[in-house]
Amino acid sequence: MSIRSNIEALQNELSAREVTLVAVSKTKPNEDILEAYEAGQRVFGENMVQELVTKQEALPQDIEWHLIGHLQSNKVKYIASFIAMIQSVDSLKLLKEINKHAAKNNRIIDCLLQIHIADEEAKFGFDHAELIEALRDESLNDLNNIRIRGLMGIATNTDNEKHIKEEFYELKMLFDGIKVSFFRKTDSFDTLSMGMSSDYPIAIEEGSNMIRLGSTIFGKRVTKHFKSQ
Ligand SMILES: *Cc1c(COP(=O)(O)O)cnc(C)c1O
Repeated sequence: MSIRSNIEALQNELSAREVTLVAVSKTKPNEDILEAYEAGQRVFGENMVQELVTKQEALPQDIEWHLIGHLQSNKVKYIASFIAMIQSVDSLKLLKEINKHAAKNNRIIDCLLQIHIADEEAKFGFDHAELIEALRDESLNDLNNIRIRGLMGIATNTDNEKHIKEEFYELKMLFDGIKVSFFRKTDSFDTLSMGMSSDYPIAIEEGSNMIRLGSTIFGKRVTKHFKSQ
């Protein structure tokens, strides 16, 4: 299967649903990204700042870039001028830093709060208590150059579908609860990013409206890079 036919198959599969496809192009060369682009794909996800910046400069300017990997505060400045969405916000401090650089660029940057839903210790993200604490913080009201669009989560890497389903179910419940409690008056809290190549059908069943697919579109990545994400 070619990248083009993979994109077309996914477009067909998703057309009846309101699910946004993020093509995760980390480690993949520009020619692969262009092939997806020419098949109509416009939203791409990267997890490393340096790689993202290099690709953004070289590739068509109407690509909507999402950062999906851990972001250090001191690197926000490199992406603030162009990034469409930062899906991996995991602290209030980072949110403030994004706001600062968005303001410098006269932009409003869309953000998702990453929630830790997996069993694995190593994954980043807020736990429930930290999330509530951050959302209650008064200083959030002053952040006029970011828009919190929703939540993002990565399920446990396991073959146990029931377990994955439970994690996605919990994240959807959290999303609904947070929306009612903190974002009742805004329409823009509308995005639940969950589901990767191995588990996106389950994620969609459980209420995801944004999936992040790498290997389904571009083929397998080199294992080494995948682990050091
Ligand atoms: C790499 C990555 C993906 C895509 O993974 P695939 O299994 O190749 O679909 C999705 N989300 C995040 C956060 C990633 O780092």
